[in-house]
Amino acid sequence: NSQLRETVVSVHSQRIVKMEVSSVKKLEQLEFSLESVTDLSSSSVSSSSPAVATFSCVDGVTELRFLQSDSTHCFNFDLATAQLFKLGPVHFICVSDSSGSSEEKSFSQGVNVKFKNDKDSKDFCESFQEWRKDAVVQGSSFQNGTVSANKSKFDTKIEASSAKMYFHYYGQLLHQQNMLQDYVRTGTYYAAVMENRSDFAGRVVVDVGAGSGILSMFAAQAGAKHVYAVEASEMAEYARKLIAGNPLFAERITVIKGKVEDIELPEKADILISEPMGTLLVNERMLESYVIARDRFMSPKGKMFPTVGRIHMAPFSDEFLFIEMANKAMFWQQQNYYGVDLTPLYGSAHQGYFSQPVVDAFDPRLLVASPMFHMIDFTQMKEEDFYEIDIPLKFTASMCTRVHGLACWFDVLFDGSTVQRWLTTAPGAPTTHWYQIRCVLSQPIYVMAGQEITGRLHLIAHSAQSYTIDLTLSAKMWGPGASQGGILQSSTCKFDLKEPYYRMSQPQAYPVAQEPPLQPQPELNTQQDIQTPNDELEEELLQQPPQNPSAQL
Ligand code: SAH
Repeated sequence: NSQLRETVVSVHSQRIVKMEVSSVKKLEQLEFSLESVTDLSSSSVSSSSPAVATFSCVDGVTELRFLQSDSTHCFNFDLATAQLFKLGPVHFICVSDSSGSSEEKSFSQGVNVKFKNDKDSKDFCESFQEWRKDAVVQGSSFQNGTVSANKSKFDTKIEASSAKMYFHYYGQLLHQQNMLQDYVRTGTYYAAVMENRSDFAGRVVVDVGAGSGILSMFAAQAGAKHVYAVEASEMAEYARKLIAGNPLFAERITVIKGKVEDIELPEKADILISEPMGTLLVNERMLESYVIARDRFMSPKGKMFPTVGRIHMAPFSDEFLFIEMANKAMFWQQQNYYGVDLTPLYGSAHQGYFSQPVVDAFDPRLLVASPMFHMIDFTQMKEEDFYEIDIPLKFTASMCTRVHGLACWFDVLFDGSTVQRWLTTAPGAPTTHWYQIRCVLSQPIYVMAGQEITGRLHLIAHSAQSYTIDLTLSAKMWGPGASQGGILQSSTCKFDLKEPYYRMSQPQAYPVAQEPPLQPQPELNTQQDIQTPNDELEEELLQQPPQNPSAQL
């Protein structure tokens, strides 16, 4: 999705808009003349030329055709599958899946369309809706007799296979139980609702992604007039059963099975409640559904619980984690694995491990600078704002050390009328099922106390409900070169937030874990001169008797 957007933006900037509506609507055919039309996949944008768009109905197939006036290119769209996206006042893209079975991923085509003015683009848009209605009625009735509407906002940006796995996961009680048993999470939601009864009492509430229905029942306990519990997965059936078994609330809660992007509600809500946070706050891309629900269901003066979120970030130093990751790839260094040389894949394996964000609870003493944060206001963010999140980084190192990457966590605020309450997933705070996340650089950087660390955290949404992360950390080099203004040491890595390395089996208490002296691999043995990030920690280590003497060999 974000890739599509990037393509469009770059094409957009190179053209001037001119278009004329050349004819009025006819019954069988409707024609618009356009400033330009270009193939989305084409890299050459210079050859854009005026064009004509024609709606027509031929042999029962309702079609939209774009023809460049020099007749060089013609693009045909079946209106039963075509979709129109508005990118600007006069700028659209039109895309469609080519025919194929719904299970198989089919090729798509897309064009970039430009109009002369708002009115033309509006007329075209209305015609598109009208003609498409005809196409859907004629073209695609389904077994149960219902008629398919246009693909939903969710379906257009999320791969069907990803959505299927996602909702299958949340449809299982064990995963809902896992969240319910995160007492920091559930308890904070309960406190935030009950301390702010006045925000719920007598109000209409929408629970966005209700799961087991727990938050709906909190809202009902706080005196909500009515709660709409919207849940897309099979969990909706369990939520119905659970709510029915709690007669005190049952008559004030309606469970609606479906996506917030698709369903309709009979009235506007005074307050939205939701738990849409994934690791690094944005994983799962459910915050987009949360703000879509806001725009679709919330009355203008409504409240959102949670209201804002913050991504916190700080550089960290952790030799043990770094060596552990580097060692995983060492398997591929074997030259005689049952007679097979594995080394051709060593580089790929190494890169693979270092593209996995590490998820675990770490000791906050591993942080080597004061954290900074990036705020996301759920009441203001547009859905599209989540497609690409770019965070410039700047820290001051508090010690002389080797920086292995960036540690991240998040918190969210319930901005109640009575009490403001934060739910935090910070290191050192009681651990939640989100833990914390660390992006480990394959090439660490060296810093001195007081030195500035700069960089960038760039998050790009992808269609598998997650993000590609680009991380760069830089620091001026000391020693030779410093006198000439400093040479920049810079380290960059790419991560897929969808493929984390869950490291929970590792010992959590660092002082104990660091006890057995490490026997690093020869080529990794470059760290003897590196200070541990914390003097206090070092002292602690010195004072403690070894607990596993056999490991000291
Ligand atoms: N509110 C529950 C569950 C939170 S998990 C609790 O706090 O315990 C998020 C839930 O949102 C999942 O059950 C998931 O299936 C649902 N969900 C995610 N995206 C959705 C969408 N677009 N529409 C409806 N439900 C969605």
